[in-house]
Amino acid sequence: MKEIVVISGKGGTGKTSITAALTYVGRGEILAADCDVDAADMHLLLAPDFGKPTDFYSGVIAKIDTEACISCGKCKAVCRFDAISIIDDKYVVSPLDCEGCGYCARVCPRDAITTPEQNVGQWFISTTRLQNQLVHARLGIGTENSGKLVAKVKAEARSLAIEKDIPYVLVDGSPGIGCPVISSLSGADYVVLVTEPTVSGLHDMRRVHQLLKQFNLPCGCVINKADLNPEFSRKIEGFLQDENIDLLARMPYHPDFTEAITQGKTIVELDGSELPEKIEILWNTIKSKLEE
Ligand code: SF4
Ligand code: SF4
Repeated sequence: MKEIVVISGKGGTGKTSITAALTYVGRGEILAADCDVDAADMHLLLAPDFGKPTDFYSGVIAKIDTEACISCGKCKAVCRFDAISIIDDKYVVSPLDCEGCGYCARVCPRDAITTPEQNVGQWFISTTRLQNQLVHARLGIGTENSGKLVAKVKAEARSLAIEKDIPYVLVDGSPGIGCPVISSLSGADYVVLVTEPTVSGLHDMRRVHQLLKQFNLPCGCVINKADLNPEFSRKIEGFLQDENIDLLARMPYHPDFTEAITQGKTIVELDGSELPEKIEILWNTIKSKLEE
């Protein structure tokens, strides 16, 4: 089993549209994983059946048992995050301010403070309308630890692919360079960078490539909407050459990208352009890179 992770230094490059289209053309051999858990949207194009949800617990928040509390104030005195206050003569923890360090629980003379794990989201193993499987997740509103949820989604996707003998796991990673992206990249066999010919597209690709170099991961690049700004596309190609990065595809701008999203389809399901053929070639190119 090989794992391909699609990332972009920034949002709005067409990363998910391209990942969903690759999932379509490789549907007999791809298990998809949506690791953009902060803003998961693969399901909008792949219409999965949303299999049974599994709760995901991560991180802790202090909780005070007001019956056991004797109002000694020790917990409030040690909390460096000002997360404990007195409301109606009772000591209470503000969940939004608590960092879960557990110091308050250690100093409480009455063992009145517990630190239960938090339910921060759910993950699913679903079957898409294309009949391939999709592992995806939903992070709770305002919750943290998306990197850990990404790790969970990837681990489940990998073990399911091995169990069902599916040769490729295709991961839609998070945009940016933060913790969820680092988590998306762990264990990848090949990384596809999707960018666009703009100042921020090039700038953010440079940043994410720095990250890839730290992990020593092989990667290739798709320049999306390449014809919208030929001068910047050439700059990106120059950067790819300098850094020895494979240029996997130049995707043209086409209104089908927007039309497909509106219809809840992948771009290869509309046949008004050269996009389906280009995505087919892209998938075969990625597979050949994995064999090198
Ligand atoms: S767990 Fe840490 S941050 Fe949270 S209330 Fe206790 S001392 Fe404050
Ligand atoms: S340390 Fe324990 S007993 Fe003292 S105020 Fe806090 S919760 Fe109450």
